Formats: sequence, structure tokens, C-alpha cells
Amino acid sequence: NLRELWNIVFIEHNRLPGGEIVPLQHQHVDTGLGFERLVAFLQGKTSNYDTDLFFPIFNGIQLASKAPAYSGQFNDANSLDTAYRILADHARMATVCLADGMVPEENHKLRRIIRRAITVSHDVFKKQQLLGETCNFVAESLGEVYPEIVDNLNHIKSIINYEEELLKKLRMTSGKQWEKMVAERPILAKISDPCASGLVQGYKEFQRSIKNLVTRKIPGELSFRLYDTFGLEPDVIEELAEIENLVFDREAFEEYLKKAKLRSRIGLNQSTTETFSEGAMKQLDETEKTDDSLKYSYKSDEGIYKFPEIDAEVLRIFVNKDTIENSTLEINKSLENREISLVLNRTPFYTTEGGQLFDKGTIIISPENIRLNVENVKKIGDHVVHLGKLDFSNFNEKLMNAKLTPGDRVRLVLDTDRRLAIMRHHTATHLLNAALRTVFPAVAQKASLVKEDDLSFQFTCYGKGISQRDIDSIDELINDCIAARLPVMTRITDQFGLTQEKKLVLIPGTLYPDQGLRIVEIEEKKLRSKELCCGTHVINTGDLVAFRVKSVVEKGASSRIINAVAGPAAKSLNKFAFDGSSKDITEAKDKKSSEAWRNMLQDFVMSEAKHAVEKGANNEFVVFLLVSRAIEVESLPLQFIRDVCTDKPIFVVVQGKRKVRTRCFVPK
Ligand SMILES: [Zn+2]
Repeated sequence: NLRELWNIVFIEHNRLPGGEIVPLQHQHVDTGLGFERLVAFLQGKTSNYDTDLFFPIFNGIQLASKAPAYSGQFNDANSLDTAYRILADHARMATVCLADGMVPEENHKLRRIIRRAITVSHDVFKKQQLLGETCNFVAESLGEVYPEIVDNLNHIKSIINYEEELLKKLRMTSGKQWEKMVAERPILAKISDPCASGLVQGYKEFQRSIKNLVTRKIPGELSFRLYDTFGLEPDVIEELAEIENLVFDREAFEEYLKKAKLRSRIGLNQSTTETFSEGAMKQLDETEKTDDSLKYSYKSDEGIYKFPEIDAEVLRIFVNKDTIENSTLEINKSLENREISLVLNRTPFYTTEGGQLFDKGTIIISPENIRLNVENVKKIGDHVVHLGKLDFSNFNEKLMNAKLTPGDRVRLVLDTDRRLAIMRHHTATHLLNAALRTVFPAVAQKASLVKEDDLSFQFTCYGKGISQRDIDSIDELINDCIAARLPVMTRITDQFGLTQEKKLVLIPGTLYPDQGLRIVEIEEKKLRSKELCCGTHVINTGDLVAFRVKSVVEKGASSRIINAVAGPAAKSLNKFAFDGSSKDITEAKDKKSSEAWRNMLQDFVMSEAKHAVEKGANNEFVVFLLVSRAIEVESLPLQFIRDVCTDKPIFVVVQGKRKVRTRCFVPK
């Protein structure tokens, strides 16, 4: 009859790796008092589940499912009472997580909890969409203290019902295959989620790969391949490893993941550091850091933007990403086609970050007025590196004897047209994000790319497809916001301040630093945008001039990419129409067809093809259909499919609005 109400832990000692125990420099007291426990005590109950934190939820489940009432028994793990407890508890957890902006795609544990609750709803309560309904009772129970649950209830239920449909489909396909494999090898029943994505194919690949393993540790390259190619989550890889008596090396995996994330977020296929020589990296380590806060120092005078020209001190010089003799650059014609890198003590140049592309511009080296055309800007650690070529178009004798040495001062001039266009597209991206949240019940941002010519925004939209009406509403909402000429407000906060912020949109799955968090906010009657963002924005929404959606691409079951333009160029664009009547979309695309856009299309085709190849792994050939409503079928890069399917014939049919295109690859 003894119950623990509250425990107090005295944290006083540290055990060293050798086993020696030493006093800690700072000693702490950690007190733990569970809310549910306290309520049970106050209400004179022996179980948390008998309190009014759970009873209303049980009643709700009973009402909705017409099952016999909860009777508070604990003796049978397969009883109806256990099912009540699982469903109520998991519904509480899932509701709160989803209200906080977490999404199942980014959090495997959340997905598992949701799937388990759905399974109980189906198998024990024999009721569809019961978990979604149970969220209503959770909202009634907790909503008064956590208003965000009530505010986001539609969003929460859309995601849960979407997950339920997904699970049903998976059970019919990969779930059945997995069952067969478990029958052949019963130890596989240890895998906690038999519908985990990519499990069947991933397991086969895993079996093949571990045959040649020399250590018990799974190499990061293999875990990342299982994750990237087959969609296996780290937890599942860990479970598979345990079954084979191997160890999942999480650190090695995270290392690979970090690199890949960086590449895909930015949309560029180049990594930042690998290309610099070891010597250059070592010199950089010893160099003081660059103050890049000047990227925010610009003003607007009635829509005319002024970016100051900045003087800075040269800290390091590299040629072709390598060190140079005496660290001094002797300027002569031999440098004509070489890439010069300058690290400065301060800069207004923006490096690619948060989906926003880098600035371009000129660095003027005095007194000879030698110009370095900056073609890329990279951040390596705390250093901003300006990369470009010297301008030899006005080559003369003066240049011959010029030198550039660390300590020299240079003048930095931004390409202000490019920067302003990028700023417009960044602010437009925030407005688009907000507009999508207004138009759809549930949206999760996956990636964005902010460029000079346009912006791309990839997101998951749960529960419904995008209609012409939705696009029209988005267009109108954003253009209203532009016409209203609203200020774009920015302020800085820290992790603690963040917890006090209401309705802040975060990117699911992103880790934010503890301090120096920048909030960018735009408030309109119908549209509220509030995001954490390190990017540069226009000062007033009126400076966007106009906004137009250019295209909508469907990627997989629920993922979409919207491509849009802001600025004077948007004014002359036709409104986007799904039937393809706005011709300039594809024309503009074909002419300039930015590299990033092509990469996105290629990604789309590759991931669909990979999916088809996985599904048809047991067949002699693969046939699959791509439906493309917004993109002309001709512009889809089908040639890459060859790389995805190398051991059997593959046949693809692309169905456009008015055309059908097919292509077939047969290996030698
Ligand atoms: Zn942003």
C-alpha cells in the first residue's frame, strides 16, 4: 500500500570511466512529481487511470465505439481494459505532439504511437477513425489549459485520419509480405512496427550487406543507405541490428544524415567543406571569425532599398581552395581562370542558409581598383568565404605589381538587384507558408528554395489534394497582403522566449540553436505569418509588388511542390491554371530552366521510379504510371530512370492533361 508521490534525487558525484567516483563541481537537487500521480493522490485513487484525467476519455471512447464500459482491471494484458488504457494514453500523447507542430513523417516514435492506437481501435474496438474522435475528448480534457490543442484540432484530426488511411494501405501490401517473412523466421516478430516503411526491401538489402561485415558495428554508409534508399527509420535499423547481434552506430549514421540534409535543404549538390584543402581548413581554424550581421543592415526609402558599401579587413586568401605562399596574393594574368577565396573580418554577403541562396557582388581591392567578382559565398564554421574570379577586362600594367595581403582593406559591394529579388522571394515564401495553412487543414513544410528568379516550396498536405480554387485563394490572400502594405517585423529571442511564443511556425525535424533565434512576423486579418528565420526580408509587404504561383507538382501521395514568383515580373504572369492554359509557366521554365528546378523534377522522377522498382522487386519487369497535371510531360527528365532499374526492363507511362508520353529501358 505504499505509493511514491514525489522523489528527490541528489546529484552529487560523477563516475569516471575507470570507475572512480568524484564530487561534482556543482551539485543539484532534481525533484520529480508527476502530475497524473498527484491527481490520483488528491482524488483518493490507486491508479492514474481512475482519475478524471482519463475517465472522461474512456467514457468518450465507449460512447463512440459502443464497447462495454471500462472496468479498471489490470490482470490481463489482452483485455478490453488494457485497450482502453492504450488508446486513451496514446491519444493524449499524439494530440499534444501534433498540436505542438510535430509530424509523423519527421518523428518515427510519434508515428509508432499513432499506429498502435489505430491498431487497437480497429482490432479491439472494431471502429474506424476512433483515434481521431478520441482527440475530441482529449481536447475537452486538456484544452482549457493548452488552448493550442483546441486551435489546432482540425489539423490534428486531419493528420491522424491520413495516417489511418496510410496504415490501411500498408497492411494490404508490405504488411502481408512481412507476415510471410515472420512465418519463415519467427525472430523477426521482434520488429515493433510490421508496417514500417521499406521494411521488406530494406531487410533483404540488410541481409545481403551484412554478409561481408568485418566488425559488429554497422557502418554509417550502410545505415544511411537503408534509411535513404529504403526509408528505414533509425529505430528500425537498430531493431534489425539487435536481431543479428550487431550494433547500430548512431553517430556514424547521423554524420551521413547531416551531410545529406544539408544538400537537400539547400538544393545544391555540393558540400561546403570537402572541397577546401586540408591546409586551407587548418588556416581557417586559426582565423578569427567573420561578423556577418551586416547582411541585415539595409534601409528602404519608400520602396527604394539602400545597401551600404562596407569596408572590411582581409583575414585569409586562398587560390583554388588551397593555401598560397606567404599568404600573399601576387596579382598577375596567371590568376585569370583561378578561383580566389577571401575571408574577411566582416561582410554584408549572405551565405546560403535556411533555403535562401547566397549573394553575389564585387569586392574592390584598393588602391588599384582591382575587382573580384563574387560568384559564391560559403559559410565554413564561423567564417564567411567569398569565392570568385578577378576581373581582368581592364587589364593594365598597374595590376602586374599589385599584391593582396592579410590585413589589407577592401570594399564590398553587393549585387543589390539580386539581393532585393531574393528578399522578395523569401518574404513571399513566408506568406505562401501562411496562406497554405489558411487554405488547408494541415500542412507540414518539408523544404524551401529561395532564389533570384523564383521560389520553390515543398510541403506535405494531409487529407486533400490541391484544387484550382485553393491556388486562386492562395494567390488572392498573398496579393491582398501585398496591397495592404504591412510591415515585416523581426526580433531576437532565445529558447526560453520561444516557449512563450504563440502560433509560431517551426520546420518539423529541425534543431534550433539556444540563442539568437530570429522571429519574422507579418500580421494581416486573414493571414498571419510567424516563423523562425535567419534570412533577409523586405521591410514592407508592399515591396513584393505582386505574387503568382507558377506551377504545382505532386510528389508521391501527399507531398507537393509549389513554384512561385514575386516582384515586378509576377505582374505580367498569367494566373496559374491546372489545365495548362497559362502557357508562360512552361515556356519560362524551358528557356531559363534553372538548375534547381531541374533537380527537383529529377528528384521527383527518381523517387517515383525507385518506389515502383521496390514494389516490383519480385517481378521480371516494372511498369509504372506518373500523373503530371501541372508540368508538361515533355519536360520530365525520364532518362534518369535508367539508373534506378539496372537489372530488368522498366516501362513508364506519363499521363499529362492532354498528352501521354511513354519510355522503356531494357538493360543490356
Ligand atoms: Zn524564412
